[in-house]
Amino acid sequence: MPPNNQTAQVRDLNRRNADAAAQDILCALCDGQQAVPYALVSSFGAESAVLLHMVSEINRDWPIIFIDTMMLFPETLTYQSELALKFGLTNIQHHRAGPQTVTRHDPTAMLHQSDPDTCCRIRKTDVLTASLRPYSGWITGRKRHQAQTRGHLPLYEVDPIIAGIKINPLAHWTGQDVAAYFQAHDLPRHPLVARGYPSIGCTPCTSPVKDGEDPRSGRWRGTQKTECGIHLPPAAPKTQPLPQGELA
Ligand code: SF4
Repeated sequence: MPPNNQTAQVRDLNRRNADAAAQDILCALCDGQQAVPYALVSSFGAESAVLLHMVSEINRDWPIIFIDTMMLFPETLTYQSELALKFGLTNIQHHRAGPQTVTRHDPTAMLHQSDPDTCCRIRKTDVLTASLRPYSGWITGRKRHQAQTRGHLPLYEVDPIIAGIKINPLAHWTGQDVAAYFQAHDLPRHPLVARGYPSIGCTPCTSPVKDGEDPRSGRWRGTQKTECGIHLPPAAPKTQPLPQGELA
């Protein structure tokens, strides 16, 4: 349960900024501060270039956290390097599970088939939680239109993972808004978008999407799983938490 004052702060932020532009929401997060206390967590996926471009125009040292699950498409890694160079981003932090953790829990790299929740936990959620420790909160690129499960996404939420604030500046953006921003700023597209991937995660858990399907319907297709866990309240651990500092 979040502290009452945090819940009240989030309620007030949502009320005051209901009509604020995404750029203004981002500017307010670093107003007058040398080191930005809110990290942008980016997958460098299909629509990530929008927020990455926005923060680069405000502060190229903006902290950006990139979780490398070691199961990503090679195209994502190439795209990450391309955007970093194009936008002049100087503070992209790469985080991944330590080799001992991976060897202990997923020695054959097939855990995504037998227990995808634990696979996401050791490769993503635990890593993200550790990487966010220095920050007051984090920024995501989630949008309401992406899936029915995101239909009521607020601009600001209390984040149960770090007991800080999670900001979704693009919550109200549509697919058309995203396309217009890409066009207006001549942003490069992730190469898999043209091959039918509107949402891009790990290679074994992402498939192309047909016309009319939710953009995220290609993630964990054929299972009940819809989120990797970084946007869900913490569950009772099935695995031992990562030892302090066991990140690559
Ligand atoms: S998306 Fe799939 S491969 Fe990636 S961490 Fe989750 S279960 Fe593992």
